[in-house]
Amino acid sequence: MTAVRTVLVSGASIAGPTLAHWLHRRGIRATVVERAPAPRPGGYAIDLRGKALDVIERMGHLPEVCDRVTEMRRGTVVDSRGRRRAGFDTGLLSAEERSVELLRGDLVHILHCPTTEYTEYLYDDSVTGLQQHEGGVHVTFEKAAPRTFDLVVGADGLHSNTRGLAFGPEEPLARFLGAHISIFTVPDHLGLDREARLYNTPGKLVGVYSTPRAEGAKAIFALHAADRTGPERRSSGEQQRYLRKAFTGIGWESDRLLRAMAHTEDFYFDSITQIRMDRWSSGRVTLLGDAGYCPSPLSGQGSSLAVVGAYVLAEELARHTDAARALAGYEARMRPYVRANQDIAGSGMRFLAPRTRFGIASRDLLVRLSPLMRSLGTFTGKLGRAAEAVDLDAPAP
Ligand SMILES: Cc1cc2nc3c(=O)[nH]c(=O)nc-3n(C[C@H](O)[C@H](O)[C@H](O)COP(=O)(O)OP(=O)(O)OC[C@H]3O[C@@H](n4cnc5c(N)ncnc54)[C@H](O)[C@@H]3O)c2cc1C
Repeated sequence: MTAVRTVLVSGASIAGPTLAHWLHRRGIRATVVERAPAPRPGGYAIDLRGKALDVIERMGHLPEVCDRVTEMRRGTVVDSRGRRRAGFDTGLLSAEERSVELLRGDLVHILHCPTTEYTEYLYDDSVTGLQQHEGGVHVTFEKAAPRTFDLVVGADGLHSNTRGLAFGPEEPLARFLGAHISIFTVPDHLGLDREARLYNTPGKLVGVYSTPRAEGAKAIFALHAADRTGPERRSSGEQQRYLRKAFTGIGWESDRLLRAMAHTEDFYFDSITQIRMDRWSSGRVTLLGDAGYCPSPLSGQGSSLAVVGAYVLAEELARHTDAARALAGYEARMRPYVRANQDIAGSGMRFLAPRTRFGIASRDLLVRLSPLMRSLGTFTGKLGRAAEAVDLDAPAP
């Protein structure tokens, strides 16, 4: 396969604009197609950790990112009447690692804005067909005229359209972690200041948190589930009915948050799922970020994998004249890092929503002991190590 000079990227969230930046720096032309009519503002708080911060620094964005950190201060576990059961200092959770937390919409804004000067963005459009041939990939769109690119990169998230077109159905590649999650904006009726409050009944979590730079507060509902594809693919109305059925009357602020859900404008609901694939490339189509290796929100590492993946992919495309070797290099460098970060997610729901009352009490005890655990170096060590487990400098040829 010949060298890559033109790339179509599907998806303009975190992975897409980061790749557009690094392709431009390497002299490769990017066109980005995004289904939404504009970059999506707002959203939940995300973390950038370890080597992803080095990539952000190399892009020159670290000062802007640091200006927008959410600075969450504490988490409080409450009982059904809102009384404190346990609490933790959020600084403690990240003390063992390099990390910053900011709103997803702020990060997208920082990444996207400078790239508009040199990147062609096609908003409100989507790829409908990919046909590979000797000279590249012939791409058809819902709206734009068909074109040929040297490479197509799917950066279009967990339910990637590109992955579907190039690799087939999602189901065999999806690893369901046994839970559903919903998050949406509600009025901050508790008057929280950089604080998260969490309430559990066996197998269920209700939470609210507020951050600076965001309107109102975010409500979170999470619950264990046996079946991934049940509510996930239904309409948001049906997903809301599913949540009402599971959470009505369970205590604390649950009913009030469910009432607010009916009026929210940014309702998000999905299964907690990883994407695990044997290979991320098929000829001249490759996958990046959640599309290829979603680690799930339980790992807290999806944004970091997307940022680092974009950097490594662009570097490999620039240093190989043969596209197949570049894609093999991308995969070889990223795979151990991806695996280490995907492995973190496994125990997340056991901690967030223990299945029994005994489990909830044990978790609360663990939270109370967190200062001691910090001194033993056991709390965040695994996450901190996984976040650093990639070399940003290409191996010698
Ligand atoms: C509740 C929640 C909490 C999270 N917390 C964290 C955290 O603390 N830390 C962390 O690192 N990560 C977190 N994540 C994960 C993080 O948001 C994702 O891993 C990250 O956004 C992945 O970036 P991406 O660019 O690969 O994909 P996405 O952000 O999913 O973006 C995909 C883009 O593709 C677009 N698109 C979709 N279909 C098409 C199509 N057919 N054509 C064109 N465009 C399309 C979408 O509109 C979107 O803009 C969390 C996720 C959730 C849901």
